[in-house]
Amino acid sequence: NIHQSDRLQGLPTQFFASIVAKVNAAIAAGHDVINLGQGNPDLPTPPHIVDSLRHEVRDPVTHKYPPFSGLIELKQAIAHWYKQEYDVDLDPAKEVAILFGGKTGLVELPMCLLNPGDVALVPDPGYPDYWSGIALAGAQMHMMPLVRENGFLPDYSQIPQDRLAKAKLMFLNYPNNPTSATATHEFYADTVRFAEKHGIVVASDFAYGAIGFDGEKPASFLQTPGAKEVGIEFYTLSKTYNMAGWRVGFALGNADVVAAINLIQDHYYCSVPAFIQRAAVTALTSSQDCVRDLVATYQRRRDVFVGGLQKAGYDVLNPKGSFFTWVPVPGGMKSMDFADLLLEKAHVMVAPGNGFGPHGEGYVRVGLLNTEARMQEAVERMTSI
Ligand code: PLP
Repeated sequence: NIHQSDRLQGLPTQFFASIVAKVNAAIAAGHDVINLGQGNPDLPTPPHIVDSLRHEVRDPVTHKYPPFSGLIELKQAIAHWYKQEYDVDLDPAKEVAILFGGKTGLVELPMCLLNPGDVALVPDPGYPDYWSGIALAGAQMHMMPLVRENGFLPDYSQIPQDRLAKAKLMFLNYPNNPTSATATHEFYADTVRFAEKHGIVVASDFAYGAIGFDGEKPASFLQTPGAKEVGIEFYTLSKTYNMAGWRVGFALGNADVVAAINLIQDHYYCSVPAFIQRAAVTALTSSQDCVRDLVATYQRRRDVFVGGLQKAGYDVLNPKGSFFTWVPVPGGMKSMDFADLLLEKAHVMVAPGNGFGPHGEGYVRVGLLNTEARMQEAVERMTSI
């Protein structure tokens, strides 16, 4: 029997594996399941990006090891795109790191910045991969409650002094998974002041940055004056261009943090495959109409689904961004029991909120990740059990 290291034993259990297992069992039992429990975009990658990959993979240069920290033309394209979209200035050589999706950077970041005993602040509910990186670094985690009364923004004044004294890193994620809340510029200005005062690095996870509803463009943390001195933003092509399977993302901002991420990446990987990096350049430098279409599609799904729930008496807020809906569980049921009930009686799979942290109890997360017709069907099934 091979013994796993203590480090691996400290990892949180893979919550989504149990969702996949339940969906598979229901499908195997012959049910027509509408799976809205995972965060996997259902739409295809835009064809011009796929064509670019086909072209680039034929260039033998892309068959060699790429530069370890990534292609400079991709870093330039990213810097240019951030300027165009957010009016943020970035030095492509020093303030951009290329990652295998946002996830690798988010998980590696605690190892780059924390020593055992240091504290990282995380949102609760929040994306569980933050916990994994903190556990691998041997650091401690302090959860900041995100509650509806506070717009699902953390209240920094509630963090106990002893935790704050040891805090070196904080994860934020807006548009938020799972609550679908967005952040304001004022909140980010407060965040910069708070981080400066306590010597905390801010990691802004902007995975859903492109997806804002009702004509609102979600704020980038890097738009805040002083943000680059204290923080780093993680972006990914996974959601913006339906490229989750391509595994390409970036870390942007503070040059010291970028250097630390590049150092760790150098030891683990020889960068993202060059043909994928070049196709990523195509995604960022060609027409952004595909992104506008994507947001319009999610907004139509949101209107059908959330409108239907509201009509049926659910006390659910209209999502402001991301492709999730954060639905309060009716009748005081536990999240997990409600999710199991929906799967059993309505054959709709949702994610129980407690999988995202203790303050997720009492909610389920529903992905807007099927066609409008199926979202309509899902809401009809959910409201008629
Ligand atoms: N951050 C959040 C909040 C996410 O929901 C996800 C993916 O689901 C990611 C980061 C990572 O995405 P990727 O590794 O595909 O870039």
